[in-house]
Amino acid sequence: MIRELSKMTWLDVQEADRSKTSFLLPIGSVEQHGPHLPLATDDLILTKVMQGVIEADDARRADVEPSAVKKEADVLCLPPMLFGNSHEHYSFPGTISLSCSTLVRLVEDILASIHEHGFKKLIIFNSHGGNTDLIKAYAQEWEQRFQIKVYLISLWSDLYSDDKETPVFASDASVDFHAGERETALLMHYNSGLVKEELISSEINRDIDFKSYYTGWQTGEISQGNGTLGYPTYATKEKGEVYAQFLIERTSELINEIANV
Ligand SMILES: [Zn+2]
Repeated sequence: MIRELSKMTWLDVQEADRSKTSFLLPIGSVEQHGPHLPLATDDLILTKVMQGVIEADDARRADVEPSAVKKEADVLCLPPMLFGNSHEHYSFPGTISLSCSTLVRLVEDILASIHEHGFKKLIIFNSHGGNTDLIKAYAQEWEQRFQIKVYLISLWSDLYSDDKETPVFASDASVDFHAGERETALLMHYNSGLVKEELISSEINRDIDFKSYYTGWQTGEISQGNGTLGYPTYATKEKGEVYAQFLIERTSELINEIANV
């Protein structure tokens, strides 16, 4: 059962079973998404998917016996962290990046608070690729320091890879990095008024001087300057609708699996 912490009282949390309750922390980013998508693209996708997961869970519970719901593992969803680590997009105005150390400290303060009250599990639900490596690098240390198991569900990771998604996209997920077909289709579905269709362009060449051993790359260098890394010209609202449903179903499945580990 997924509940939003912001709508609960401390007494509600007090009653939660420490041994089978997970906290869920959504993390996004505020960063450039090409000339055609808004800076809050990752946050919008994050919160829409999260909202869909919570609504799906509410709907499912309506058909389940209350006694069976009581036996389910609880998941307490925290308010989202809407800024992320976005230094790869720093050259684009409007990008607001937390430094690595700030992001780590924020998560550590949340872990300390959860630990203080005896909980043992944190699931991070992340919609920005730039946060992934940082969280992975710290997860084992956090687990040891706070005695909390840390799990990471990242959109755009292999947890959501091509073989699991409905095959509606023309471009492979491995080349659809940023503001490409998938993100553009999702935004067209969620809020088409925020998509500047006349500025959509797939005329990019990610391969220019881009070698995998160059880890300090900047999006401005490898996107021919417009910030897009992918094929947004293939995006449609219909694809976005199908994909949005897939993201809700797959995320629900993953949260449920981890909550019941
Ligand atoms: Zn994004």
